[in-house]
Amino acid sequence: MVDVRGVHKSYGPLEVLRGVDLTVRAGEVTVIVGPSGSGKSTLLRTINHLEKVDRGWVSVDGELIGYRRHGGKLHELKEKDVLKQRTHIGFVFQDFNLFPHLTVLENLVEAPVSALRRSREEAERTARRLLDRVGLAGQADSYPRRLSGGQQQRVAIARALALEPKVLLFDEPTSALDPELVGEVLDVVGDLARTGTTMIVVTHEIGFAREVADTVVFMDGGVVVEQGPPGTVLDNPRHERTRAFLSKVL
Ligand code: ATP
Ligand code: MG
Repeated sequence: MVDVRGVHKSYGPLEVLRGVDLTVRAGEVTVIVGPSGSGKSTLLRTINHLEKVDRGWVSVDGELIGYRRHGGKLHELKEKDVLKQRTHIGFVFQDFNLFPHLTVLENLVEAPVSALRRSREEAERTARRLLDRVGLAGQADSYPRRLSGGQQQRVAIARALALEPKVLLFDEPTSALDPELVGEVLDVVGDLARTGTTMIVVTHEIGFAREVADTVVFMDGGVVVEQGPPGTVLDNPRHERTRAFLSKVL
């Protein structure tokens, strides 16, 4: 479903991604862990072309992201075509990024109506179903600022789902939350995992990774150092760098 091949990315002289390969199969959950600055967020951002890669390529559901191939060469897509691709790649940020001036329901309705050309009635029906799914059916008419961080993040997840994404990307979805609110968000993500949603989750929640991930990826210094099932990478890592990292976070 998601293929990342030989991806390099620099900011000026700083090479942040130094040849990353990653494959995520449909219906699987990949959890990325690694120290601060290892390139985890940058990698996620290349997958929906919020960052352009310097070398290599990304494809989602067989479609090259940000480029098209023509006569053996890669040509950059127009902004509107990139936006179209991005609608099918859900992104959930650390700090929720809800529209503050819209109600919870409107937050979920806006993009399906404007980007997918859904009718308002259909978009609202879907929105209410999704709010129910994340346990927020009663908050449809609230404004985001009235909700707890955990509730806001659950709205953000429902909003991403409203666009029927092929894959959902999460960048530390619980790291801005008070500890007592982390569980309710991870429960929702775990629930999605069980229903076969394809996801890539960057998180420091190792317990969650052990429980929910099909594959755990350990990144350090802009490369994938080690990847495999949680029982291997988390409990029996082959690399010293993985062991050193885990001894700090566990
Ligand atoms: P964290 O766990 O702290 O979120 P991360 O693994 O997500 O870290 P990235 O955010 O991908 O790491 O950043 C990797 C490196 O790239 C860091 O040194 C960061 O300072 C640098 N960096 C990220 N974005 C930019 C940017 N837009 N311009 C310049 N440098 C950047
Ligand atoms: Mg990050």
